Amino acid sequence: MEQTLAIIKPDAVRRQLVGVIISEIEMNQFAISAIRTLRLSLGQAAQFYKQHREKPFYDSLVAYISSGQIFVLVLEKENAVQEWRGLMGPTDPAKAGLLTLRRRFAIDIQLNSVHGADSPSTASREIDFFFGERK
Ligand code: UDP
Ligand code: MG
Repeated sequence: MEQTLAIIKPDAVRRQLVGVIISEIEMNQFAISAIRTLRLSLGQAAQFYKQHREKPFYDSLVAYISSGQIFVLVLEKENAVQEWRGLMGPTDPAKAGLLTLRRRFAIDIQLNSVHGADSPSTASREIDFFFGERK
């Protein structure tokens, strides 16, 4: 079974959307094989998003993702990476389908409530980043 890495981001945690998002995860037949909550330091956030370091939004993205508590989950399902990206919707909530999490909950293109790995190899790297030996 494929695994992916999901994050419920600070804007969603702050607005008490953890329960409804986890409920959507379960209703869409993902198995949750690991979960933890933490707040990233600025340094950890910079490392996690390092592939975006040349982008104009990088500094503000790093500040945002480390601005509060996050919930990090390992999700399991057939085709989990693509399935979770589909449930989230595209980065910009204005372009997202009506039933997607980002359309329903995101505030804007940055405060977009959820993260998902973009490929199986990224998923593996991100699962290691958050869970190391514990996954
Ligand atoms: N982001 C942003 N401005 C943009 C594009 C992205 O602030 O124009 C933020 C947003 O929080 C996004 C994250 O940077 O989720 C990572 O960007 P990516 O392109 O990887 O989007 P994702 O894979 O999260 O859909
Ligand atoms: Mg991405």
